[in-house]
Amino acid sequence: MHGGNIYKEGDYISLDGSTGNVYGEKIETEEPGLSGDLSKLMEWADRYRVLGVRTNADTPRDAKQAYKFGAEGIGLCRTEHMFFEADRIRAIREMIVSKTREQREKALAKILPMQRNDFEGLYREMKGRPVTIRLLDPPLHEFLPHEDEEIRSLANDMGMSFDELKDIVNGLHEFNPMMGHRGCRLAVTYPEIAEMQTRAIIEAAINVNREGMNIVPEIMVPLIGEIKELEYVKNIIASVADKIIAESGMELSYHVGTMIEIPRAAITADEIAKEAEFFSFGTNDLTQMTFGFSRDDASKFLKDYYSKNIYEFDPFQKVDTKGVGRLMKMAVDLGKQTRPDIKLGICGEHGGDPATIEFCHNIGLTYVSCSPYRVPIARLAAAQAAIKNK
Ligand code: PEP
Ligand code: MG
Repeated sequence: MHGGNIYKEGDYISLDGSTGNVYGEKIETEEPGLSGDLSKLMEWADRYRVLGVRTNADTPRDAKQAYKFGAEGIGLCRTEHMFFEADRIRAIREMIVSKTREQREKALAKILPMQRNDFEGLYREMKGRPVTIRLLDPPLHEFLPHEDEEIRSLANDMGMSFDELKDIVNGLHEFNPMMGHRGCRLAVTYPEIAEMQTRAIIEAAINVNREGMNIVPEIMVPLIGEIKELEYVKNIIASVADKIIAESGMELSYHVGTMIEIPRAAITADEIAKEAEFFSFGTNDLTQMTFGFSRDDASKFLKDYYSKNIYEFDPFQKVDTKGVGRLMKMAVDLGKQTRPDIKLGICGEHGGDPATIEFCHNIGLTYVSCSPYRVPIARLAAAQAAIKNK
């Protein structure tokens, strides 16, 4: 009931988030953009900042919004977010539980055109600006069927018995999935996934470049802790990409880099930089693994740490410069020793936090990457960091 009117389920009301006013009807809305004084302020900020500002975007829609806010590229596209739709997760499940490479490739062939289409959309929205696409990185269990009904239906489709498939699913169970079979470890077990994704990334770039764009894809390998992992995955990427490029008759450059999100990668960054053309700090995992507490559960006990003055802030929001930051600085210095022109970014949630952005400026990163709606704040914070630390 509002002003004598009765509203039923499904009726529209509108809420003005700035004033708190409630309107008893559907009011047309507009996507926020940058205009007027704000756009002027951003222009000033851009004149001073040294850090680039990119965005984390997994869909053309996010990319479009970020572009409007001034994102200079995509710093992280989490491809696993593209796999969860019903038609795709089915194919991914088929792929994971397949017993032969042939079966796996058949499943992946269903996903290839969809992935290619996803990447073309991202490239088009970024209009030639750099796009970093990360190879698949979810804990494996997120893809598995759990309900008996789902298992039965998948088993049927794949010509397996329910018990056979249930055994496979049980065999893939992990006690600590965050430290389990994810990131580049998936590509080590299933190189076909990296092959399919590389194909989609490269073919999409060739397609949009034929339309006159100049995309230089950046392929990012997640969760590296050892140079040989990167060498292994990079070889897969290069063999697929180079073959497709040669067959296309087009010229296409691409870069291969890695996330630095495992402490061992930071500590051995001089070696990793031999293979990586760029580093992007995955500070969500780097924080989790440096502190040794789970990013999904820590909030349950961290509140006691604040009230007892053990910690002052949430290290998943603002980078802990003393510990995690020290690893980052070490990785920057070691990486530059091997490859002086290495590109350095951050794509964890911290990339949109002003205090972290100042830290990133000070240790000499090339860019920060944050969610689309934080891009304007990041541009401002990057300028403030540059002015303050001249
Ligand atoms: C990270 O770990 O900081 C990161 C960006 O990767 P994700 O959050 O997808 O693990
Ligand atoms: Mg990560």
